[in-house]
Amino acid sequence: MNIDWSKLGFAYMQTKSHIRYVWKDGKWDGGELVSEPYLNIHIAATALHYGQTAFEGLKVFRRKDGKLCAFRPEMNARRISASARRSCMAEVPEDLFMDAVRRVVKDNIDYVPPYGTGASLYVRPLLIGTGPQIGVNAANEYTFIILVTPVGAYYKGGLSPVRAIIFDDFDRAAPNGTGMVKMGGNYGAALLPHKIAHDKGFPVDLYLDAAEHKYVDEFGTSNFIAITKDGTYVTPKSHSVLPSVTNDGLQKLAAHLGMKVEVRKIPFEEIETFAEIAACGTAVVITPVNEIVRGDKVIKVGPREGAGPYLQKLYDNYTAIQWGEAADPFGWSVEI
Ligand SMILES: *Cc1c(COP(=O)(O)O)cnc(C)c1O
Repeated sequence: MNIDWSKLGFAYMQTKSHIRYVWKDGKWDGGELVSEPYLNIHIAATALHYGQTAFEGLKVFRRKDGKLCAFRPEMNARRISASARRSCMAEVPEDLFMDAVRRVVKDNIDYVPPYGTGASLYVRPLLIGTGPQIGVNAANEYTFIILVTPVGAYYKGGLSPVRAIIFDDFDRAAPNGTGMVKMGGNYGAALLPHKIAHDKGFPVDLYLDAAEHKYVDEFGTSNFIAITKDGTYVTPKSHSVLPSVTNDGLQKLAAHLGMKVEVRKIPFEEIETFAEIAACGTAVVITPVNEIVRGDKVIKVGPREGAGPYLQKLYDNYTAIQWGEAADPFGWSVEI
């Protein structure tokens, strides 16, 4: 095996194995490590017909002290169970989830990038309905897998800002009432606006609330965070925003650094008053956004290059905890 860790992007690479568990007759089996990256699935599986699927994404870091640590995996365990409840799938117990992460990472230890390359091991849990069903009903069999793949440092230089677009003719396909969850079915409808945005030169698309298009919700695959002119961290309060682990961590870190944190409705008009804006999520941590376009309106925010001082500081502190370069006052790192 000869991987150039510095050249890795965010793409699937086959590794030694994935781990696979099956839920049948009311219980999960003991799980097995499987080398073939294929699943033999029933043609009437509910995952295929009714989108009974949920996924997660977290990272494992080879830290400065040599330790191998997963970053807040219990948050992903809880969230995949929330997704399971929302789509009537068998829940994955937290201890099974943690055990699965440990087993699959240990089996693929040669694929964990070394410290100093900026690369890490991306861990992708997936829960799907594999039992056959012709009526619109929940399956009687579920498969839980975790695959792992090494991913590169997103920023090879410093943080670099992107443009975002708001489409008034696409709404997010998020279920109301119980909160946005990471269900596969929600993402199929996000692909077209995402592609149109990309083709127009916008790496990210921003959603307003579907009911009125008055308030900011979140970006296609990441949360919206902003810093006001007086240095307050603000992020939208909305039932259709995915509860991002990164946003949660950045809020805690911001408060720890003495910043004021507000989770509240953010009217579209407020965007132009912000000093800094970013998208946040596990894959990139922070993507500064310095321009937001909605129809003819172009809103410019923050510096032309790099990130603003508050977001840069949050990014530096957050990633230093991940790499074990700084103390972990919140106990976020879980040793494998
Ligand atoms: C995964 C995801 C995020 C980011 O969540 P993290 O837990 O921070 O990775 C934000 N929004 C959506 C829609 C997502 O799917």
